[in-house]
Amino acid sequence: MRSACKTIGVVFVYAVCACWLVTGGVVAGEKKLRSMKYTPRTKQQAVAWQRALRPRLFRLLRMDDLVARKTPIPFGPKIVSSKREKGYLLQEVEINSTPTRRMKIMLTVPTDLEGRLPAVVCIAGHGGTRRSCYDSDDYYRRFARVLAESGYVTISTDVGQHKIHEKGRALMGERLWDLMRCVDFLASLDRVDSRRIGCAGLSLGGEMAMWLGAMDERVRATVSAGFLTKMDQMEQDHCMCWKFPGLRELVDYADIYSLTAPRALLCQNGLKEPASQFPVPLAREALAEIELIYADFGQPENVALAVHEGGHVVDLPSLSAFLENHLGNRESTVRPNAPKGVDAPHR
Ligand SMILES: [Zn+2]
Repeated sequence: MRSACKTIGVVFVYAVCACWLVTGGVVAGEKKLRSMKYTPRTKQQAVAWQRALRPRLFRLLRMDDLVARKTPIPFGPKIVSSKREKGYLLQEVEINSTPTRRMKIMLTVPTDLEGRLPAVVCIAGHGGTRRSCYDSDDYYRRFARVLAESGYVTISTDVGQHKIHEKGRALMGERLWDLMRCVDFLASLDRVDSRRIGCAGLSLGGEMAMWLGAMDERVRATVSAGFLTKMDQMEQDHCMCWKFPGLRELVDYADIYSLTAPRALLCQNGLKEPASQFPVPLAREALAEIELIYADFGQPENVALAVHEGGHVVDLPSLSAFLENHLGNRESTVRPNAPKGVDAPHR
């Protein structure tokens, strides 16, 4: 009897231990990943959640010192090339990214319009360059060129590199900082209406559009194409440059996108995306999580998913309509006798 009790006792202890390991493991796992997951709350609490999360992400991205700078970094612009295109001037310009690093941008400014104009940061993905969104028809549909011809100021820089430029920085942080410098530069131009700056990108460019829209509140409208998904999916069959220490412990993509609320956000996913890439069903699941915060802000109409017939490409019709709707060309007019020059970049 004593032996039976002892056996039962041992079994009980093992059972308790096993339960503790299982439940403890699951609880620990939940605690370990996505500790800042967004859950429904009041509008005020939603704003507080965003204000708490951004600085933590900036720290992980190793760019908090740049963001906290009191003194603006001068641009020191140098025009590398200048070409007149149909209805706009296309320039390649070199500017300061950080106090010790230069970066190159492509810039277009309409020549036949007057007044302050809306502007879009155009972002290419892996294998792309600052020229791809203007020149490449296969994935990008030349969307930056289309926007330039439609009267937007556009800007683009390189984010496809996998080399960290400066010691002590993080790859994603440097990519994001260069895009924020694009916004700085646009906001410094006399021709740009700084209240109407948007961003758009595909694939890694869609990911960087997510980051830029989330972390830079000057961005009024974001188009993130070919990227909306979940981090579990990105752990398989993908370049791992999206991941950096501490990220998964804090958030999933839906949480990063949620930092954009209530500003306008359009995601695009194609029906021909392979199941291993950015399939629509996963995008819908992630979207449902993003919609929570837009509902809490009372602006559910400001987030949308455009599901299109294509694969891993930009969907031009929904991109154009969305940017026109949120950034529009209301304040600019056709200038009948447009002068030959445009404002030179300054600062
Ligand atoms: Zn990569």
